[in-house]
Amino acid sequence: MSSKVVLITGTSSGIGLAAAVGAAKAGWRTVATLRDTSRADALRKAAADAGVELDIRQLDVTDPASIAAAIDGVISDHGRLDAVINNAGAGHLGTLENETVADVRQVMEVNFFGVLHVSKAALPHLRASGGRLITVTSVGGVVGQPFNEAYCAAKFAVEGYMESLAPVAAKVGVTVSVVEPGAVATEFVSNIGVDLEAEVAAAGPYADALQAYLDRTVSQFLSGAQTPAEAAESVLEALTADRPAFRIQTSDWARGFTGTKLSDLDGSAVLGLTSGWVG
Ligand code: NAP
Repeated sequence: MSSKVVLITGTSSGIGLAAAVGAAKAGWRTVATLRDTSRADALRKAAADAGVELDIRQLDVTDPASIAAAIDGVISDHGRLDAVINNAGAGHLGTLENETVADVRQVMEVNFFGVLHVSKAALPHLRASGGRLITVTSVGGVVGQPFNEAYCAAKFAVEGYMESLAPVAAKVGVTVSVVEPGAVATEFVSNIGVDLEAEVAAAGPYADALQAYLDRTVSQFLSGAQTPAEAAESVLEALTADRPAFRIQTSDWARGFTGTKLSDLDGSAVLGLTSGWVG
């Protein structure tokens, strides 16, 4: 059994829940965090079904005090932190004319600044352990998608931040990776919390385009979505592989889709270049 400690954000459902259980099964002391610990029933049941123990703690990625309390608590109780998995995130459906700048800021707050806050608080401890900083981004962090402008902007921002940080973090012994899922059958879509019919009705000149986008997206989720456990396997690869790639797609579909834009699918060409800039 490894005595290494991993902290994961957003483990109430979906990929985070599956990754937490998977990490514990792989022998990691797993700190599974949620913004609302009263929503931990599914997580507790999945852990019990798998016969593993989790250390469940509160952490809201938009609340720096809760991040500091969670990370300080891990260090005082476990004495170390070997990996962080920034998994928490939230979708958003909208387009420029039909959303406010405040809406976009909120999307950035959760999906970008949340990752930044957690990573900044964790980095000194990851530096001490020679650890790993892993972030679940999205194929939408590489390819912009209609009516996902704010969400994709936030995920692009995370990818740019992490790709830039990776060679610097490597100099102090920390490995940085991003994991890019395509469609995964989780609470993600329902958690966006919009009434799709009302959204189309209110979309004015964008109504037909939004309806077409929704039809295509629903059929993609019905025909090709991965399970959370399948997507979590790629997260665990970033956690446990000897030399994880910087960029890991969770499926062949995700590789094909991001490959329409990327010639550097795993990030090794860019990092091969930029690593040389830091000696
Ligand atoms: P999910 O089931 O909705 O899980 C998202 C998790 O993030 C939930 O546990 C949610 O907690 C948590 N969360 C949201 N806001 C938070 C905050 N402020 N602080 C802490 N936790 C917060 O969806 P998922 O698909 O597993 O999403 C996991 C990651 O995968 C996200 O980063 C998402 O962008 C990414 N992703 C998903 C898909 C997909 O198709 N599902 C595709 C590409 C990328 P609550 O229960 O409290 O809301």
